[in-house]
Amino acid sequence: MFRTEIPEYVKSILFRLKTAGFDSYLVGGCVRDSVMGAVPHDYDIATPASPEAVEACFNDLHVIETGLKHGTVTVVSRGHPVEITTFRSDGEYLDNRRPEHVTFVSDLETDLSRRDFTVNALAYSPDSGIVDLFGGTEDIKAGIIRCVGDPETRFREDGLRILRALRFASRLGFTVDDATDAAIHKCSRLLDNISAERIFSELGGILTGSAAERILTDYSDIMFRIMPELEPMSRTTQNNPHHMYDVWTHTVKSVGAAEPDRILRLAMLFHDCGKPACKTTDDDGIDHFRGHPEVSGRIARVILNRLKSDNRTKDEVLFLVEHHDIQFSPKDNRLKKFIAETGEERFGRLLEVKHADLKARSEYSREVSLPELQRIEGIFREMKASGTCIQVKDLAVNGRDLIKLGVPEGKAVGLMLAQLLDMVVAGEIQNDREQLLAKTRHLSGKFTEM
Ligand code: ATP
Ligand code: MG
Repeated sequence: MFRTEIPEYVKSILFRLKTAGFDSYLVGGCVRDSVMGAVPHDYDIATPASPEAVEACFNDLHVIETGLKHGTVTVVSRGHPVEITTFRSDGEYLDNRRPEHVTFVSDLETDLSRRDFTVNALAYSPDSGIVDLFGGTEDIKAGIIRCVGDPETRFREDGLRILRALRFASRLGFTVDDATDAAIHKCSRLLDNISAERIFSELGGILTGSAAERILTDYSDIMFRIMPELEPMSRTTQNNPHHMYDVWTHTVKSVGAAEPDRILRLAMLFHDCGKPACKTTDDDGIDHFRGHPEVSGRIARVILNRLKSDNRTKDEVLFLVEHHDIQFSPKDNRLKKFIAETGEERFGRLLEVKHADLKARSEYSREVSLPELQRIEGIFREMKASGTCIQVKDLAVNGRDLIKLGVPEGKAVGLMLAQLLDMVVAGEIQNDREQLLAKTRHLSGKFTEM
C-alpha cells in the first residue's frame, strides 16, 4: 500500500503523461519509503514515453536533460525537480560498473527487473496501485534486502550493488537474504573496479545507518576490501585494563556509539587504525599503543585521499582522529586555550568522539575516564555561556585598532592579539572593545619604551 500522500507537483506530472497516452509510474526509493510509512525525499517516475516525448510533453516547464543517454530528463514541477526515466533494459556491463548502452523498452516489467533489490523494484500509479513483481512488499515487511534475480549475476553487472545492499541494510535496519549475503562475500573483489567517489559516497551511507554496527561486524571483509589498511585492526588484541575487545571490535562498537553523523562516524572508523603499527607489550604482558593517534591520522589521510574525499570532510575527520586521545589534567591551563583555538563546533564534535570511544571500552576505563570528560564538558559549557569560547577573529578589536594605538606593524600585532585572546579566554578581561583597548594601551607602553 502506498501509505503517504503524493504531492500535487508529482500527481500533475503523472496525469499529464497519462493524458498524452503514456501510463507512467512512481518507482524505486519513493515507493519503498512510502510502503514503509516514511515520507519520500524525492520522487522518480518511470514512463514508456521516449525522452523526446517527455520533453515535448513538458515544453512549457523547465526541463533539464539530466542523462539523456540513459533516458532521464528532469522536469521542474512547481519548483520541485522530478526525474522522469524511460523504461529501459540495461545493455552489457563491460566493466562491472555502468551499462555500455541502454535499450528503451515499452514494458514496466523489463524496467523493474533491471533494478537492484526487490524493495527497490516496486512501482506505483494511482490507476494500478502497487506493482510488485518480485516480492518487494513481502521483503519490506520481513525486513530483507534481496537481489532481483541471481545475486552473483547482478553483482557482476555492477559491483557497486554490493555496497548499495549494505547501505540499504544499514539505513533501513534490514537483514540481507542468504543468497545475496553469500554472493556479497564471494564477489567482494568486484569492488576493485568501482570508482573511488562512488565507494566513498556509499561508505558514508553505510556508516550513518541505524544498523551500521551490525553491518560493519558482518561485512568486515567488504570494509577491508575497500580499505585494506583497516584489516590489521581485526588481528590486534588489546591486553590492558582500558579495553575488553580487539581493536576492530572496539572500533565497530565506537561507530555504533556515535551519533549518526558522517564526519563523526568516519572519525570513529579511523581513530584507532594506527594501533596495530604502534603496539608494544611490556614485561607484565600489558599492551601499549603509544603515538597511535598520529599514525591513525596518517593512515586515514591515505584512505581519504584514495577515496577522493572532499577537503572539508578530510580536514574535520583528520582533526578528530589526531586529537581523539588528547588529555588535559585538572592543573593543565592549556585546556581553555585549546577549546578556544579549536572552536565551538569542532570541539563539541571532539567531545562526542571521546564519549563514543569511551562507551566502547572496558567498564574500568569508563569509570576512571568519565569524570574527567565530564569536567572538560563543564568547562566547555561555561565558556560557551560566558562567550569566552572565541578565536582571534572573534575579538572585539582587530589588528588595525592595535596599530592605531601604537603597536608596531608586523609580528607584534599578532602577538598582542594572541595575548588579549588568552586573557579573555582565561576570564581576566571581557571581550569588550573599551576593555581590550585599555589593556592594549597598558601593555603597549612596553612597545613605546622600546
Ligand atoms: P535513496 O532513498 O537513497 O535515494 P533510492 O532507492 O531512490 O534510495 P537511488 O540511488 O536514488 O536509490 O536509485 C533509484 C532507483 O534506481 C533505485 O531504487 C533502484 O530501483 C534503481 N537503481 C539505482 N542504482 C542502481 C544500480 N546500481 N543497479 C540497479 N538499480 C539501481
Ligand atoms: Mg533516490
